Amino acid sequence: MLVVMKAQATPEQIQAVCEHIEQLGFRAHPLPGAQRTAIGITGNKGEVDRGNLESLSGVAEVIRVSKAYKLASRDVKEEDTVISFPGTDAAIGGRNLAIVAGPCSIESRDQAFAIAEQVASSGAQFFRGGAFKPRTSPYAFQGLGLEALKIMAEIRDRYGLRIVTEAIDSESLAMVAEWADVIQIGARNMQNFSLLKRAGRLRKPVLLKRGLSATLEEFLMAAEYVMSEGNYQVILCERGIRTFTDHSRNTLDLSIIPAVHHLSHLPILVDPSHATGKRESVLPIEVHHQPDKALSDGPQSIYPSQFATMMDEIQQIAPVVGRNLPRGIHATAVAG
Ligand code: PEP
Ligand code: MN
Repeated sequence: MLVVMKAQATPEQIQAVCEHIEQLGFRAHPLPGAQRTAIGITGNKGEVDRGNLESLSGVAEVIRVSKAYKLASRDVKEEDTVISFPGTDAAIGGRNLAIVAGPCSIESRDQAFAIAEQVASSGAQFFRGGAFKPRTSPYAFQGLGLEALKIMAEIRDRYGLRIVTEAIDSESLAMVAEWADVIQIGARNMQNFSLLKRAGRLRKPVLLKRGLSATLEEFLMAAEYVMSEGNYQVILCERGIRTFTDHSRNTLDLSIIPAVHHLSHLPILVDPSHATGKRESVLPIEVHHQPDKALSDGPQSIYPSQFATMMDEIQQIAPVVGRNLPRGIHATAVAG
């Protein structure tokens, strides 16, 4: 159920409706929009008595949300969600393009700084590096853990880049939440419901990657898990799905982008690195200064010079399609 408040409803009226919902034993999720606030109701097995709610002051109407996902749905919030990072020009979901780049894994301080410098000077706003790696083989490099988080915190201070990194379990989630700006939940964990709920109890943006074989509904339901716990800052990420195709690591399902935009107000990013697995097919996001020596995902990591060229191209294309790349690109980044 969804309570739509009148455009002129006061904060006190919104608060009173939320309290009323909670007293009934449900959870209230106030979602402010440009015109009006909508209050999602979750935790109700059946119908909520709409008569009582409709009579509360400031309420415009009470609507039943028929989709399985409620808070992620456009029925609940018409406007696109824009996730901003106070004190910075970084935002995900608006007209400004959000560029996230970096190595698959943080391997050393030197490696991370060398890549971050290129990523920053090419105009990206987010640095993504793995500290905890979900590897297919238990013998493969598993990440530097806390040491990597500390390196990335230094990178944030030095270059003003917001930090994105993955949490793979509740232990790493607590650490990632402390050190990073965006918590990545990887494809393999997209249906780790207890991890999603834990991330939902935090108040940091969550970058949720699509599962290897997840349908659109499963993807949005995973987002709903995070949101149902009160964290509405979810960023979806298409990263390729498993198909019979064997020319690439995965198949980039670009058709999910308009489908998500139609059904949900949440922003969605595209990760062409994991989607294709091959440098020559990739634009961002995995950038490595020495991909041949990378401890993970070297073949899909593009060279800094390729990244700089791509950013230059994006800067030219963006205005043509009504988008904007907020950070200027320093020409020096292109050499290298
Ligand atoms: C990654 O981003 O390095 C990663 C492991 O991604 P995914 O979860 O999409 O495989
Ligand atoms: Mn990777």
